[in-house]
Amino acid sequence: MALISERRVIGGNELIVQKTVGHKLAHERDQGAACLKCGPACEGLDLHFWRKICRNCNCKLEDHDLKNEEETHQNIVAVLLADRGISKLGKLEINVKHEDHLENHPLIKKNVQKNFIQVPKASASVLSKFLDAIPKDKAAHHGEVGEQYRSKQLANQLPAHDFDPSFCDNLTDAEKDKMKAFNEERNENATGQGEIKEKTPKVVTQWVCERCKLHLHAGEIAIFAERAGEDKCWHPKCFVCATCSEMLVDLIYFYKDNAIYCGRHHAELTRVRCAACDELIFTKEYTQAEDRNWHLKHFCCFSCDKELGGQKYVAREEKPYCMDCYDKLFAKVCAGCNKKIPADGKRISYKEAHWHASENCFKCITCSKSMLGEQFIYKDNKVFCSAQCIKK
Ligand SMILES: [Zn+2]
Ligand SMILES: [Zn+2]
Ligand SMILES: [Zn+2]
Ligand SMILES: [Zn+2]
Ligand SMILES: [Zn+2]
Ligand SMILES: [Zn+2]
Ligand SMILES: [Zn+2]
Ligand SMILES: [Zn+2]
Repeated sequence: MALISERRVIGGNELIVQKTVGHKLAHERDQGAACLKCGPACEGLDLHFWRKICRNCNCKLEDHDLKNEEETHQNIVAVLLADRGISKLGKLEINVKHEDHLENHPLIKKNVQKNFIQVPKASASVLSKFLDAIPKDKAAHHGEVGEQYRSKQLANQLPAHDFDPSFCDNLTDAEKDKMKAFNEERNENATGQGEIKEKTPKVVTQWVCERCKLHLHAGEIAIFAERAGEDKCWHPKCFVCATCSEMLVDLIYFYKDNAIYCGRHHAELTRVRCAACDELIFTKEYTQAEDRNWHLKHFCCFSCDKELGGQKYVAREEKPYCMDCYDKLFAKVCAGCNKKIPADGKRISYKEAHWHASENCFKCITCSKSMLGEQFIYKDNKVFCSAQCIKK
């Protein structure tokens, strides 16, 4: 990995954005991280190179105990906020550095000071009230739980592959251009970071939370989003994505039609997302199957990654499988001949048992009479034609 510095001039101020070139390979991200859902059943994160899921447990990247998301997102967040004007860049530094008494705030651990970003600039007392106003398990950096929550939300709300083609599976130049244009357009028209304000007794205007519609009283903290309008505000815990209802990480929001969204769900208002790789689709052609959207190249067998375009496949739990893999993994065994029944083969199922729908398999176990289309008796996983045959 190499670090390059890019000079940008924003609002008459020069700022240097550092970018890494040649990211860590996507499948090396947090390799070995424990799965928070599966526990010891997952040997540790082994990222599928384009599916963004763990090859050991099939859970999402962000279901694992990520330690490097701050690093991964540093540039993404820096560019997002830099594009909103130099004044906002202060937010990229920890605002509590020189506030001694905040250092002792129970929700701020020492390592926060070193961390990349916390919340927008605000006075120490306002910041302190803000932290008190959000659920304890969601306060960034509040011990393990808060840290894990934050990493998960970073990865989920601002997916690196929505912003940076180097996290995507081999985009063409045309796709890269479209992705760039998409991000420029939304930085121009939708991106913002909430501002933390306190309703002091001097404030005479009414503050009403956009989400819960309750009035805010003097001494309370509210989040303002300039894209929504000067008079719109939210309780800190109500400043959530309209789609997923999660609190917005670092108060970074994307605004559209009177609502605020996280990056992921704002993008999905105008672009479709590939169900296999989780990337936004920037090609004209894509596959629609199983009520979901797929890159042409990613409509593949979930087990062996073979492309399924134009092929027979079977869907199971919303995932497509080629016929071979389906047979290998899930095929039912015929109670008549003990051989597997192919996924596209005709079969008869009764209670727990399955048979090839053939005279040779679905027959009376005693007299071998075919039971196809006949009334049969089922006993001890066996098929009989009559009470007499059961007795024999
Ligand atoms: Zn897992
Ligand atoms: Zn895993
Ligand atoms: Zn509210
Ligand atoms: Zn969301
Ligand atoms: Zn895809
Ligand atoms: Zn397969
Ligand atoms: Zn059979
Ligand atoms: Zn019989």
